[in-house]
Amino acid sequence: MSTGTKILTERIGKRFGKFEALKSISEECRAGTFTAILGPSGCGKTTLLRLMAGLGSPSSGRIFFDGELVSSPQKSLPPEKRNIGMVFQSFALWPHMTVLEHVLFALKHHTGREKETGGKKGRGKEAARILEVVGLQDFHKRYPAELSGGQRQRVALARAIAGNPGVLLMDEPLSSLDADLRVEMRHEILRVHRDHGSTVVYVTHDQDEAMSMADKLIVMNEGSVQQAGPPEEIYTRPSSIFVARFVSKANLVRGEWSGDCFRPEEAQGSVKWDGAEVAPFWRENGMYPVRPEQLSLVPAANPESPRGIPATVESVQYLGRETHYSLAGRNGTWRAYLPAGAKFSRGERVWLDLMPKVHDRLC
Ligand code: ATP
Repeated sequence: MSTGTKILTERIGKRFGKFEALKSISEECRAGTFTAILGPSGCGKTTLLRLMAGLGSPSSGRIFFDGELVSSPQKSLPPEKRNIGMVFQSFALWPHMTVLEHVLFALKHHTGREKETGGKKGRGKEAARILEVVGLQDFHKRYPAELSGGQRQRVALARAIAGNPGVLLMDEPLSSLDADLRVEMRHEILRVHRDHGSTVVYVTHDQDEAMSMADKLIVMNEGSVQQAGPPEEIYTRPSSIFVARFVSKANLVRGEWSGDCFRPEEAQGSVKWDGAEVAPFWRENGMYPVRPEQLSLVPAANPESPRGIPATVESVQYLGRETHYSLAGRNGTWRAYLPAGAKFSRGERVWLDLMPKVHDRLC
């Protein structure tokens, strides 16, 4: 079992010519934790990961591993001296090597591991142990071409953890797998992470992947960190328009605040939403971010509920466990996700409101 390394980036900047790919990134990845870097294409995720790996130097700022300076514009410790493992999108396996040979090669060439595993015999034993960790013990004689996508991914993972790295850096490692396998491999990676103890930094633009795996999310856009923290906090309490839209898929409702109570400007009837939990940014800007699953719909024809935001169902997507609705309001489109059983049809007029109703009581 490895002891994870603490990573600290201090005001990291990276320029490519005049283009500023990273703008003053200061973040910490605690030892042994799983951090996911999430953001749209081109926001700088890979650039940040590469700097952590020592593949290039920052233009400004510093990176520390367990308090030791590893990167600055003047100095960059090479990747092989950082005690890291890397897994990339393409897996980058060697076609002429068997599964076992991949792991043996990594054991032999990783600084310190040769001595630690006690020569050739010890290496064989350690390789067998690692193959068991990733569930490939029965495939050790196979070549990459004889493996499925998921099995190849496991080889890449086995090779990366063979060095017993303090840091495991992963760049979209599941993006070439199909949807079912991705979900299965998420569990595998988490299990290996738990069993192995390395600090993981995981780049993805897949929100579900990031939310379901990470202890900490770093949400980036255009080279800057927009918000960082535990996934649940980021999902339920986005602190900017970008994060509300990108992570929570939130409806940004305009209206007026009075204390902790919010009145949507399009609402009819006595509608007030409790906003005690809503971040200051939204109050200052006369908005309330409502996630699609927080909205309730009632038919506008229902005389008992003539209240809410009037809207018309524009499209209905049935997804089994829930149904996704797109609704036309006076000033734009609303998005609502309702549990199975909700039945509204295209063209139907409805009232939208915040759910659960208990929110009203406080206002
Ligand atoms: P994706 O999800 O598409 O992989 P990303 O968030 O990982 O995107 P990066 O690969 O970090 O994005 O790139 C950030 C920006 O820096 C992009 O605009 C990219 O074109 C630019 N960039 C990256 N590497 C270089 C380079 N070597 N030279 C010039 N520009 C670069």
